[in-house]
Amino acid sequence: TYNSLLERLAQSWSQQRQFVSAVSHELRTPLTIVQGYLHRTIKRANNLSPEQVKGLQTAEEESIRMRRLLDDLLDLSRSDSGKLAIANEPVRLTDQLEQVADLARNTLNRPLLLELPDDPRARDAMAHADPPRLRQVLLDLIENADKYSPENTPIRLVLRHATDASLVDVIDQGIGIPEQELDQVFQRFQRASNAPAKTGSGLGLSVVKLLVEGMGGSIEVHSRLGEGSCFTVILPS
Ligand code: ADP
Repeated sequence: TYNSLLERLAQSWSQQRQFVSAVSHELRTPLTIVQGYLHRTIKRANNLSPEQVKGLQTAEEESIRMRRLLDDLLDLSRSDSGKLAIANEPVRLTDQLEQVADLARNTLNRPLLLELPDDPRARDAMAHADPPRLRQVLLDLIENADKYSPENTPIRLVLRHATDASLVDVIDQGIGIPEQELDQVFQRFQRASNAPAKTGSGLGLSVVKLLVEGMGGSIEVHSRLGEGSCFTVILPS
């Protein structure tokens, strides 16, 4: 009886994962089309009123946010069923951080300070990582830093070198996270009690953790309420 119960439970979990994965996958395509039309209409139409442009921009931002959410759900369900593909290769971290800083500066309305080590050997540090996934991790952390910080405060992206690992910090001067809730923020659907309502789903950091661990690394957070947070991605050399 026990064995058959376990078997049925396993089957139902697996069906649930397949369902989440299929729904996320199916919703992504129409959403991409909607986003594409909105983007082209905003770019090309020259007879729109400022209010109409604003409305379309809000619709585009929301469709991008929904796509990200679906991507996160897809990554989580793929990981649960052991199908999340992470292709690690030797990467020069300085190159990755420079690319990430360029990408992030396109959308941020605040300074992003890239701090690379002075020592040329540390600057050339290599790590074993999946380049697009590493960029996704850092951009997600920067997006959070932006979301949870007051206007105009800078975000720092810092590369450091330790004996057997490279460390990348994303540091903000934002709202911080209550100390007793620090462990929870990496869990699915968990948000800190001081996070403004309707600014997120609580999924991003669980995907970030999953991806970093898939690259053989780990992630840590230090934070002071009302002063700021520092998320550190640690990648073995
Ligand atoms: P979301 O931002 O969608 O809520 P995340 O999984 O990315 O979900 O983050 C989980 C929670 O961690 C957030 O809701 C917020 O409470 C907290 N958090 C994450 N990054 C920061 C940050 N840079 N500063 C303050 N709080 C943060």
